[in-house]
Amino acid sequence: MPEITLRECQKTVDAWVRTIGVRYYSELTNTAVLMEEVGEVARLMARLYGDQSFKQSDEAVSLADEMADVLFVLVCIANQTGIDLTAAFHQNMAKKTARDKDRHANNPKLK
Ligand SMILES: [Mg+2]
Repeated sequence: MPEITLRECQKTVDAWVRTIGVRYYSELTNTAVLMEEVGEVARLMARLYGDQSFKQSDEAVSLADEMADVLFVLVCIANQTGIDLTAAFHQNMAKKTARDKDRHANNPKLK
């Protein structure tokens, strides 16, 4: 399976939406769809790692596929709001590193 960068991911999703998908849903619709997809991940996590049991209708569901649904919609929202996820990721990791460089090491609950 070929490696893909975040930038390539954004381009791939954009090309897909503009051909197969015809056009982007509105930003607000995609935000609702993102919540829906995150809920599907939560539903599966509750069954895989939590106390809920699987229904027959859950059997074909895959955590990887549900996570990919979340990524797809998030990338759609990034594309339609002009967010460069590569830059955003680098900036966010730098922020987290500066903010939390001692915080987690000093958290006794993590020892
Ligand atoms: Mg899904």
